[in-house]
Amino acid sequence: QIRVGVLALQGAFAEHIILLNTLPQVSEAVAIRNAEEISKVDALVIPGGESTTMALIAERSGFWPSLQEFVRTHPTWGTCAGLILLSEYITSGGTLKGDQKLLGGLGISIKRNAFGTQKESFEAGLHVEGLENAEKLFPGVFIRAPVIDEILKPDEVEVVAKLEQDYGRTPKGTIVAVKQGHLLGSAFHPELTHDNRMHLFFVKMAQDWIAKQQK
Ligand code: GLN
Repeated sequence: QIRVGVLALQGAFAEHIILLNTLPQVSEAVAIRNAEEISKVDALVIPGGESTTMALIAERSGFWPSLQEFVRTHPTWGTCAGLILLSEYITSGGTLKGDQKLLGGLGISIKRNAFGTQKESFEAGLHVEGLENAEKLFPGVFIRAPVIDEILKPDEVEVVAKLEQDYGRTPKGTIVAVKQGHLLGSAFHPELTHDNRMHLFFVKMAQDWIAKQQK
């Protein structure tokens, strides 16, 4: 069993905690707000919300450096705003890393608010690589969601899910979830569904990664 933290500075953290606590592989899922709390968990989830606000709060409170160090060295999953924070670059709006503060780690470039205003929120059935019952579509909830614009490190980054059809100007085949080593990122919000398969996927990925480190 592992102890999983959910970054609780802002956004949909309570929902992640509830879903994580349904898994037998998780001893406890807890809210994380500072360096002291993060030092007691094995893995971290960064929820959806507003990426700029989360970064600002973490910086102001002095939590940013230990958060960044944790993400560099422990299994971490970012959903939506969390995916943005785990990216190396932001393409859309021309904002490169440096303009918006990012934790980085995923060798991808991200386009924020990719679905524009006309299609801000929607649900899309997705085939997610490696899920249990993979033939059953996963309900992808997209809320002012980003998409993965470009894979910058194709040798290291695995594509886990793509859009199965066009949504507004965003074409079918657009990448919406990736995995790289100990990091997982999804543009959608599995915490806003009743389907815990993505949470199980992350927890198993975290357990495997931790076991490998101990060898
Ligand atoms: N648009 C938000 C951002 O840029 C992300 C939206 C979300 O997490 N639902 O942070």
